[in-house]
Amino acid sequence: MMAFEVFVNGKKVCTAGVRKPDLMDAMLWLTAEPRELSFRLSGLIHQTDDSSEIVNWLKRSLEIGDELTIRVIESEIVDDPLPRRQILYSCSFCLRNTLEVEKFISGKGVRICNVCVTDFLKITENGGEQDTTDEVSAEDRCSFCAKPRVEVAAMFSGNDRRICDCCLARCQKGVFGDARRNGKVRPIHDDD
Ligand SMILES: [Zn+2]
Ligand SMILES: [Zn+2]
Repeated sequence: MMAFEVFVNGKKVCTAGVRKPDLMDAMLWLTAEPRELSFRLSGLIHQTDDSSEIVNWLKRSLEIGDELTIRVIESEIVDDPLPRRQILYSCSFCLRNTLEVEKFISGKGVRICNVCVTDFLKITENGGEQDTTDEVSAEDRCSFCAKPRVEVAAMFSGNDRRICDCCLARCQKGVFGDARRNGKVRPIHDDD
């Protein structure tokens, strides 16, 4: 495939190439104020689901006097693009992140992981109705549905967030009901 071999001050920094139908572009970027001079080698990579994703092979700032060379070559071996920035979510209750759990269920400004759902459900199965780590008082509200403690059968809390037994049951459906493809985060809707 056709590829770009990039050198900065004579030193090779990257070899990048794309296959049909992907594309690649090299951009030299200069802003006057604040002064910023940088070089970026990026591309548009076709995904299996028919979407395209922007990736970068190289992003680096340049100084006055730097010499940038791009040689166009034919090569079957090229560098992988830089890893895409992964968005890390974390559970509002236990603070475990995307890399540590399988799934999240999210409400408005609150998110719970599959581990917490399982842990809290275990407590209800054992007949427990009390909170977990923090104190839950009568006026405390579920962070998902906003119902106060007095209106629900059980409420669980962690990290100053709370979830009632009804929301937990809905999360259970989300986590175990239909393990829907890669959807790591499923929003809770009121008509769920
Ligand atoms: Zn959690
Ligand atoms: Zn609730």
